[in-house]
Amino acid sequence: MATGWAAEGAVQEQIDATVKDGIRRAQSRLPNGPGHANCINCGDAIPEARRNAIPGVSLCVKCQEAEDQDAVLFSGYNRRGSKDSQLR
Ligand SMILES: [Zn+2]
Repeated sequence: MATGWAAEGAVQEQIDATVKDGIRRAQSRLPNGPGHANCINCGDAIPEARRNAIPGVSLCVKCQEAEDQDAVLFSGYNRRGSKDSQLR
């Protein structure tokens, strides 16, 4: 290839930066760390499957649903849908 590996590397670097930026933005909306064993809102145990599915999860299903509903009401869009699309 005439452009050589340096130019390709620069493009890859840009892609990496974009991906990292996206991950950082997604993470800034989520709590960090391995997640909580108990809901920070009501203290109920959070099932391990849920903690595995959502790294850094801090709310039980009940509280998360209540929070999601609040988010939809206040922001006017489906936050769960946008969370999924950020990971693609
Ligand atoms: Zn809860």
